[in-house]
Amino acid sequence: MDPITQLLSQVLENVRSNDDGETAQYIPELAGADPRALAMAVVGPRGRVTSVGDDERTFTIQSISKPFVLALALTELGRDRVLRHVGVEPSGEPFNAISLERGTGRPANPLVNAGAIATTGLVSADAPAGRDETIVAGLSRFAGRPLTVDETVYASESATGHRNRALAHLLRSHGIIEGDVDGVVESYFRQCSLQVTVRDLAVMAGVLAFSGQHPLTGEQVVPEAVARDVVSIMASCGMYDFSGEWLMRVGLPAKSGVSGGLAAVAPSQFGVATFSPRLDRYGNSVRGVQILERLSDEFGMHVFERHESITRPGVGVTRTPELITVRLDGELSFSGAERILTMLREIVADAATQEAVVIDVAELAHAHPSALVALRGELASLGARVSVVGG
Ligand code: GLU
Repeated sequence: MDPITQLLSQVLENVRSNDDGETAQYIPELAGADPRALAMAVVGPRGRVTSVGDDERTFTIQSISKPFVLALALTELGRDRVLRHVGVEPSGEPFNAISLERGTGRPANPLVNAGAIATTGLVSADAPAGRDETIVAGLSRFAGRPLTVDETVYASESATGHRNRALAHLLRSHGIIEGDVDGVVESYFRQCSLQVTVRDLAVMAGVLAFSGQHPLTGEQVVPEAVARDVVSIMASCGMYDFSGEWLMRVGLPAKSGVSGGLAAVAPSQFGVATFSPRLDRYGNSVRGVQILERLSDEFGMHVFERHESITRPGVGVTRTPELITVRLDGELSFSGAERILTMLREIVADAATQEAVVIDVAELAHAHPSALVALRGELASLGARVSVVGG
């Protein structure tokens, strides 16, 4: 067993005996899920998926569909139009709350039912007949394989989803949903009934972690700006009314669903997912939360802990009698540029008069605009001996 698999297995075994919580009771098909199921998967930037436990078991995606459908709506309509129909504030209320803004009826949080139903209504609104197809195709692109609807769960949700229907009609009365409101609710039930494995979820989270780019295929699934928007919303709104405490403890943008899935995003590092159907009083998977807490600590994933690489870009210096080459790689931020400039000033001050200094930026993966402005401004003052190549 390779070391990563071993580490994940250990984390999994540590939580296995915890049988707190119960499966979602309000959807008959979910109530009967196997409560012992337990799985976890992680995908890294090079597309390697590592998974342990019941990693081939399928379950319905439920609420975890919400950030991905939101990504489709943002891609199709842009941020401003989406924000006219749904807010991006944690509602601090349960997943099925009637949390609509006074006056406008705009739901506060796109990652709980009211806001998510409004978001579903935005996808393919000009050609609603194709909405289901757009959503299934869109989420399949995130997963990197064709996803299908679990018709039994869909039927179960549709037969019992009176509260969601009521929410949708309220949204319709405020003009937040336009047109065929019943069709929108059915599309919402279908999106929640898409079947996934824990590996699919990790890969889907991975697309968001890697700026919209698929870690296995390299396809740009959604624009980078959309991925960033969705991840931001997941950070504040993704874990129902536990979102604040989750951000403090685990520090990862995430989304959970009532079937027991949980997908978390460690930006630029990992997509992570867990599956364990027993839920706590907020509707989050008990063992999923426990696993992520542990994993975040062990892998140093908390987004607000210190991440030195942003202030320390990669630098390599090589010298020949006439030329000093300074190679930069990785990410160059404003504070990183400051560091490089201090170093360059020293190099230039120490260099013999015949030596030229070349800064090679060919390997720089990402440079913040402010860093480039700072670098260019200062380089001019270092004189003609310093030049930049590879940019
Ligand atoms: N389909 C579920 C519902 O609408 C999703 C809820 C959830 O996972 O939060 O009730």
